[in-house]
Amino acid sequence: MIKYALVTGGSRGIGRAISLKMAEMGFAVLVNYNSNKAEATKTVEAINEKGGTAEALQFNVSSKEEINTKLGRWIEANKDKVIEVLVNNAGIRKDNLLMMMPEEEWHSVLQTNLDSFYYITKLVIPGMMFQRNGRIINVVSLSGIKGLPGQTNYSASKAGVIGATKALAQEIGRKGITVNAVAPGFIKTDMTEGIDEKQFRAIIPMQRFGEAEEVAETVAFLASKGASYITGEVINVNGGLYT
Ligand code: NAP
Repeated sequence: MIKYALVTGGSRGIGRAISLKMAEMGFAVLVNYNSNKAEATKTVEAINEKGGTAEALQFNVSSKEEINTKLGRWIEANKDKVIEVLVNNAGIRKDNLLMMMPEEEWHSVLQTNLDSFYYITKLVIPGMMFQRNGRIINVVSLSGIKGLPGQTNYSASKAGVIGATKALAQEIGRKGITVNAVAPGFIKTDMTEGIDEKQFRAIIPMQRFGEAEEVAETVAFLASKGASYITGEVINVNGGLYT
């Protein structure tokens, strides 16, 4: 059985760093992306150049149809491969004050960040149960723990995934599957482009934004043998920024 790590939103940012790290750990990597094929190809090539195995798989995580057809088809067609690590990383933000927020901004963020967890995880779990082994790691956010103004949609989506992480961990622990979350603070990616790092230095004890690789290291730990007795946890990677 070839062991795979599926990283949603693996084309850029934190997901790319996680994909590279998973490859370093010896997993073949399924690099999911939505529209940015060029960046997904870059991630796949970077893994191949280092002697790893990777393939890009396009599906929109906010679409249950695309998940069920495209990811479902991949699972059906690859019975010799098993997804041992699932990293639910793809996410978007559409910030607005609740009073001004159109329904589209509420629903699209919830669909992309929270509903995706349900549809993707449900497809991947049966293979893990069969192997009696698996790691599910959800990339959430400080915003889902603390709540951030202008992010009611985003905070709700990430808090929802945190609740689901804790509940699912208790459902499938006896099957040898762990479920954890990693909650980044401010990380330098396309998502935080335009946010002035200098403005936030004063409130971040480490006085800087984090690197995608610093999040990937934590995800890698949770995917490693060393984390075999950790489940239902949320690990903050935020430079000490809690309140
Ligand atoms: P990013 O640089 O904007 O990258 C987003 C990634 O998600 C891209 O690979 C993108 O694919 C993918 N994606 C977005 N919508 C998708 C969809 N509908 N279907 C499939 N893939 C989709 O974001 P990031 O900063 O790396 O964030 C990664 C995760 O960390 C997100 O869940 C985010 O909420 C969380 N997070 C980030 C920060 C931060 O400061 N950066 C802080 C806390 C939490 P394409 O390339 O195809 O567009």
